[in-house]
Amino acid sequence: MMPLTSEWLGVNEKIMNKLKHFFKSFLLWELLVGLKLTGRYLFSKKITVQFPEEETPRSARFRGLLALRRYPNGEERCIACKLCEAVCPALAITIEAEPRADGSRRTTKYEVDFFKCIYCGFCEESCPVDSIVATSQMHYHFEKRGENIFTKEKLLAVGDKYEKEIAANRTKDSAYR
Ligand code: SF4
Ligand code: SF4
Repeated sequence: MMPLTSEWLGVNEKIMNKLKHFFKSFLLWELLVGLKLTGRYLFSKKITVQFPEEETPRSARFRGLLALRRYPNGEERCIACKLCEAVCPALAITIEAEPRADGSRRTTKYEVDFFKCIYCGFCEESCPVDSIVATSQMHYHFEKRGENIFTKEKLLAVGDKYEKEIAANRTKDSAYR
């Protein structure tokens, strides 16, 4: 009888592995494992979201329609530093500014061209006063030429409308900022 040397055990293991590999390939084992997963989902309960009546939850970091925010006293936050305009990779922001009678600097024109905007969120990141922000609104469209340009008044109106949601999302995400 052959002695059980480590060499003999090694050869034996190699043969067993080759046989295993052969039978696994021959019996399409991997395919069956894959089909098992398919079968599990085929018979599990289906979840269908009835859009647009129902929506899937959106992250607090979702980048949708942009908005300009105000402070609680109604004063606009933007200090016309133009950082957002400088950082925008799509050149979608146009700002003009001049000092007010009280010496504070404010924009006289703040426009975002939503045909150019790529929703990167760089403007939001760069703003030192949390003025320009991305809201979680994604249901909007433009029908006429020119509607893609959002003026300062329009952006402030979006901010006023969704301020509660914007503030809640920023609080949720504050630990990561
Ligand atoms: S989200 Fe990006 S592309 Fe759009 S205005 Fe801001 S910086 Fe520009
Ligand atoms: S929105 Fe913010 S970054 Fe842009 S000009 Fe105003 S203060 Fe500066």
